[in-house]
Amino acid sequence: MAISVRLYGQLSKLLVSSGCGYTLNREGEGGEDMWASLINAIGAAADMPQMSGLKEMAKRLSAKIAHADPFIMDCNGKVCPQCEGVCCLNKFGRYDIGDVIYLAALGYRPAEILSFSNHDPECLPCKYLSQAGCVISRQLRPFRCNWFFCIPIIEYMENGNKKAYRGFSSLFHEIIRLRKDMLDEFCAYIKVLSESA
Ligand code: SF4
Ligand code: SF4
Repeated sequence: MAISVRLYGQLSKLLVSSGCGYTLNREGEGGEDMWASLINAIGAAADMPQMSGLKEMAKRLSAKIAHADPFIMDCNGKVCPQCEGVCCLNKFGRYDIGDVIYLAALGYRPAEILSFSNHDPECLPCKYLSQAGCVISRQLRPFRCNWFFCIPIIEYMENGNKKAYRGFSSLFHEIIRLRKDMLDEFCAYIKVLSESA
């Protein structure tokens, strides 16, 4: 799909003013149409040959997130059954711009990203929550879902196996760094595209 320079310009402005943590939804400015347009623009940009480095980083990021899964699952398995709260609400289970860039770099098409966007009412339990936990694989979840740890979980992590915790902690920092590098690269390229009129 051909994307206008104007749309890249809007995306670039949004990235500068609100950052990659910005979440668009039906109720937000521009509504669903704007969200769909921006997802299309991100998908088209991620497909460009100049973005091969971005794709490589997204693959590495996905592998690192998958590697962190067993440790987090073990903690959730020990602590969550005793908890009566529901921490997974729709408002947390939404993609932000950074998540869309990552998914597009992994090769997901704009229509697929749109189809798993969550626009359900904010304060209800997340539509992706099942009896067995989240139905989305960890590598594809909104980034903020993966890195939300409540106090009981943090305490369990810190007081458990020290070696496992150190390994997880170092992996966590690598993930944060790699995601930042990937998003910085994308933002820099979008700026170039937006100025290419
Ligand atoms: S992550 Fe924390 S708040 Fe959420 S269900 Fe588990 S123990 Fe409860
Ligand atoms: S972890 Fe899954 S179920 Fe929980 S808020 Fe995120 S997407 Fe929804």
